[in-house]
Amino acid sequence: MSIFEPNLVRAQICNVLPHGERAAFDTNWEKSIEQRLRTWNKNNNHADEQSAPAQFEWAVHVVEYVSYLYSATRPAPIPRKKGQPVPDPPPKPKPRSLRPGIPIFGPRFVPPSYLHLEKRSNTPTIEPEMAYLKALNIIHPFYYPQLAICPRCRGKNVGWEGWTSAGPREVYSVRRGELALGCQIRCKDCQTIKEGLSKEEADKFTHCTATTNALFWEKWQYWEVPYGLPIFFHKCAVTRELLDLLLELRLTTTSMGLAENIKQLHLLEYHHTVCDFLQRWFSRDHSESFFSPCPLKAFSDPWDENGYNARCISSSMITDILLENSHRMRKGESEEYLRTLTARVMSLDATFKASKKATLTGTDQSKTNPSEGGLLTAVSEWTEVMTWKLCQSQANAEMSEMLGGLKDRHDVLEEPPPEQFIADNCCHILRAILSVFPDAAVGLDVWHAIQRYLVTIVNGTRNPYRLAVAEDLRDAILIKGASKEEPAKYWAKEEQEVRLEAVHTKWARRGGVWTAAAAKVHADQLKHVRKGCLMRRCQDVRSDGSRIEGSHKGWNNIMRAHASGLETFVALGHDFVLRRNVRIASSRADPPPFIAESTFGSHHVRLASHGARLWNSAIEADRRFYRATGNDFRPRAEMRIVDSGETFGLIRSVDAETFGGLIRLKEEEEPEEDDEELLQRAEETELTFQQHQRHSPTMELMPP
Ligand SMILES: [Zn+2]
Ligand SMILES: [Zn+2]
Repeated sequence: MSIFEPNLVRAQICNVLPHGERAAFDTNWEKSIEQRLRTWNKNNNHADEQSAPAQFEWAVHVVEYVSYLYSATRPAPIPRKKGQPVPDPPPKPKPRSLRPGIPIFGPRFVPPSYLHLEKRSNTPTIEPEMAYLKALNIIHPFYYPQLAICPRCRGKNVGWEGWTSAGPREVYSVRRGELALGCQIRCKDCQTIKEGLSKEEADKFTHCTATTNALFWEKWQYWEVPYGLPIFFHKCAVTRELLDLLLELRLTTTSMGLAENIKQLHLLEYHHTVCDFLQRWFSRDHSESFFSPCPLKAFSDPWDENGYNARCISSSMITDILLENSHRMRKGESEEYLRTLTARVMSLDATFKASKKATLTGTDQSKTNPSEGGLLTAVSEWTEVMTWKLCQSQANAEMSEMLGGLKDRHDVLEEPPPEQFIADNCCHILRAILSVFPDAAVGLDVWHAIQRYLVTIVNGTRNPYRLAVAEDLRDAILIKGASKEEPAKYWAKEEQEVRLEAVHTKWARRGGVWTAAAAKVHADQLKHVRKGCLMRRCQDVRSDGSRIEGSHKGWNNIMRAHASGLETFVALGHDFVLRRNVRIASSRADPPPFIAESTFGSHHVRLASHGARLWNSAIEADRRFYRATGNDFRPRAEMRIVDSGETFGLIRSVDAETFGGLIRLKEEEEPEEDDEELLQRAEETELTFQQHQRHSPTMELMPP
C-alpha cells in the first residue's frame, strides 16, 4: 500500500533531476495530465458522477508518475551498426536503475487522508470529498513485466501500447470499492495473422488487449496471477483479498449470505469513515474562521453515486465467480488430486438426498434432474473420497465405469488394486466389482446391517430396548470396536452366525422388540453372514463403510444450505472433495509427503505444487551457478499428475444401458434427533465416529 501525494512525489522527482531537465519534466507532466483528463472525461463510464473530477485529478498524477518510472527504467536499445547481423540469441537488454532519491510507490495507490492535511497545515480543509476517493490499482509492466504474454497465442512477441483510454474501472473489494487501470498489450504475431484475414473475420479477432480486460486473463489460473493484482471477470473485477475470501467461505454459506456479509463490512467501513471525518472536523481549529473557513459539510449516504459511492458485490456475481473458478481451476485441481489417491479398502455408497435437489431449470421453467441415479461415492480406509459421480441412472454399468477408472489409476500409479470393497448392497454389486477387480473381497457394511435390524423394531426409535439391541448386534459382529489407535476386529463368519442367531432369539423371547418383518430381515442377514459378507479381509486397516455416511453429511449440507442448481452443486462438490481429502490426508499419522512437506495442509494444491517445483529447479540452478560451494537442499514433493483418464462429478456415461435396480434406491429420511444420537452411540466404538468429528468439515458442524 502506498499513500500517494501527487505534488510531493512530483517535487521529489524534480529535485533529483539535473537542473537542465526540470523545466521540461514539469511541462510534460502538466500537458500529459491535462490530456489524460480530457480523454477520461470523454470515455469513462463514471465521468458524470460528482466525485469523478477529484478522483480523476488524483489518478492522472498516479498515471503520470508510473509512466515516468517506466520510461526511466526501460532498457536502452542495444546499438547495432547497419547491415550487422542480429546475434543468435539476441542480446537481452538490461533495464536501467532508477536515480537514487526517486521514490517507488505502487502498484496499489491509496489517496492521502485527513492526517496528511492536518500535518501539513494548521488550518486544514476537512471536507467529506477527500474520503470519497478510492484506491487505484495499476496493472502495468513496470510492476509486472511477467504479463508480457499474448492472451490469445501465449506468444512473447508483444509490445506495450500505452494506457487504456477508458480510464479506471471499478473493482469490488471487501470493505471499500477500488479502481484499476491497465494498459494495452499488442501481439505482433497475432497482428500479422489478422492482416491476412477477411474484414469480417478480422473484426472478431483481437491482437490488442487491455490488462484490465477479462479477455487478457482468460487463460490464467488464479494462482498464476501475480499476487496482489485484482482479478478481472467479464461482469466485474474483484481484489485478490475479496476473491480469496469468497472462495474460502462460499462452501459454508450461500452467495446471498456472503453478499450480505460483504455489504455489512462496507457499511462498517462507511460508519468508521464518517466518524473519523467528524472527529477531524471537530479537532480542527475554527477560531480563525474568517481567514480560513471550513464550514461543516454533510457526509453523503453510503450508496450515493455522487458521494461516498459504496459498491458491493452482488450474490449473483458471487455465484458467477464461484462457477468461473470451478470451471477454470478448482474442478481440475480437485480431480488432479483425486487421481493421485489409492486405497486398500474402499467403501461404496449411493446417496440420493443430496443429488435429488440438484435440478436443471429449462427455458420453460420446467425442472429436470439429470442425476436420477444419485450420487455414487467411494471412500478409502482413511475416509478420503476416492471418486464421486452423479449417476444418470441406477445402472450397474455406470458403477463399472467408475471402477474401471479406479483400476486404471492404481495401474498407472503401480499400486496394488484395492483388496476389499464394502457396500450396503454387497451381493448385488458383487459381480460388477469382480469383473473389474477379480481378486477383491466384497463385504456388507456393518452399520447398514445393524440398521436393517433396527428398522424392524416395534415402535422404532421410541422402543426402550433399541440401544441395547444395537449394542448386542454390534457385539455379535465385532470382537472389538475400532478405537483411535486401532481398527475394529471381526468375528469369523461361523461365530457371527451363532451370535446373531442368539441375539435374535434373546430379543424374540423378551417380546415387544421384533415386528413381523424381523424374521425375514434376520434370515436375509444370515445369508450375507454365511457368505462372509460381514468379515474383513484386511483387519489391519479401518474398513467399515459406514464412515461414508459421514461424508454424506457433508454432501447433504451442500444442498441443505443452498438450494442450488446442478451446476453450483457440482462446483461446490469439487471444492468439498478437495478440501476434505487434503484435511484428512494432513491429519493422518503418516501424511503423504506432498501434503506434509509441500502443502502443509493448504487445499491450494496446484499453487503448493508449483512452489515445490520452483524450489526444486532453484536447487538445480543453484548447483549449476555455484558448483564450488554446492548445496545439499532437500527437494520438495510435487503433486503427481496421473493420467488415469478419470473425471468426476457430472460425467456423461458411455454406457446408457440399464441393468436396473442393482444400486438400490434408498431414501434417506432426516433422522429424528434422538434417533441420530442413538445411532451415534451404537456406532461410536466401531465406526470411528470420534475420528469423524475430528475430521469433519466445518460445514458438518453447521445447523441444518
Ligand atoms: Zn498473439
Ligand atoms: Zn452380501
